[in-house]
Amino acid sequence: MYDDIKKEYLDHVKEILKYDYDRYIKSLDEKETHGFILNKKKLAHSSVDVDYVLDIFKGKILLEDEGYHYIVYDKDELTRCGIRLGRHPLHHAGLFYMQEPSAAKVVHEAHIEKSDVVLDLCASPGGKSIMSLCSIDKNEGGFLISNEVDYKRAKVLKSNIERMGFDNVIVTCNTPAELNYKFTNYFDKIIVDAPCSGEGMMRKSMEARRQWSKSLVSSMAATQKKLIDAAYNMLKKGGSIIYSTCTFSREEDEEVVEYTLDRHNDLTLEKEEKLYPFNYPGEGQFYAVLHKAGEDIGRQRMPTIDEMGDLNVLQYKVDKCEDRHGIIIPTHASTHVDDIHFDNVYELNEEEVYDYLHGDAIKSKIDIKNGYYKMTYKKLGLGLAKAVGNILKNHYPKGLRNL
Ligand code: SAM
Repeated sequence: MYDDIKKEYLDHVKEILKYDYDRYIKSLDEKETHGFILNKKKLAHSSVDVDYVLDIFKGKILLEDEGYHYIVYDKDELTRCGIRLGRHPLHHAGLFYMQEPSAAKVVHEAHIEKSDVVLDLCASPGGKSIMSLCSIDKNEGGFLISNEVDYKRAKVLKSNIERMGFDNVIVTCNTPAELNYKFTNYFDKIIVDAPCSGEGMMRKSMEARRQWSKSLVSSMAATQKKLIDAAYNMLKKGGSIIYSTCTFSREEDEEVVEYTLDRHNDLTLEKEEKLYPFNYPGEGQFYAVLHKAGEDIGRQRMPTIDEMGDLNVLQYKVDKCEDRHGIIIPTHASTHVDDIHFDNVYELNEEEVYDYLHGDAIKSKIDIKNGYYKMTYKKLGLGLAKAVGNILKNHYPKGLRNL
């Protein structure tokens, strides 16, 4: 199973783990644990409850917060039952987001509060942003800036956030230095889920096995120090940085934290933990929570789009409507935001929903009037259709369809 893992890596990890090395090696042969974040606010808008979700996906709650349930499930069992989670209508509706358990634990330990103003500095594909957004409450002024430096990855991030229906979020595609230029002493919490040498990916990623080297560890450590430096400057007094990696080397984990603490005597280490595949479900993560001393001078309000200035904003909240060749129509994204009202709503039944997600037109069994409809499943918005006569023409975006 691990014949293709470099000997240099095994020696390196043996030095880190010492007596636990054999447990780690054994864990490489063990089955992965999978899980997803279930958004409680969306659940409250739906016609289902958590017991229904646990039952259909044969899941168990691992972590619990006011904003989410984090649920683990057995992927093999679901496959045997013919369920593909990513193609399930409730996934399309943004009720849940798949993320591995140790990554979820990091956000859980960040204790994001309802009114927090949060920056996720390295956010794509979006698991940590989405889990944070489940805890943040826009009615209490909380919002998130979700940033990803790589443009292609930032577009994936935007699409994931859009599917989950959050509108108290700004998605940016900037370098940490560009953000740092704009925001100083600003955020209550900053998540720095840093790019790393990926030692926690060895079980599932052949790419991680191939690319690992000691020089990669060192170059990543240099990048991580730059990222955490930028985060420090953007953090408010009284705020916290949540630094994490999916790697085990001291150079990228504890030493980055020590470097930061040495430079800033107003920072204290509140918590530091290393999760390995043999001591916590999932692939492994390191995280540290660093608190900045000083009096909290009150929260920031969400900047206007103009106040974002030169930053590269990919998504600013959610637009309700768009202009298509002079005709104003609702946006697809708005169908996912539960509190955006639609006059015309069509609830799909168990059969119709798969036809709709496939891109087919729906023949309505009830009286409908011409115009745009928000198509729902279990009361959650999926997308749009345009009614003409008794036919609902499919407007579900082509790239999202189950083909
Ligand atoms: N937080 C994400 C999540 O939960 O889905 C995973 C983030 S991944 C571990 C690290 C991200 O950092 C990648 O998306 C990568 O493109 C980005 N990245 C790589 N180099 C970077 C740099 N020099 N500055 C900022 N971000 C960088």
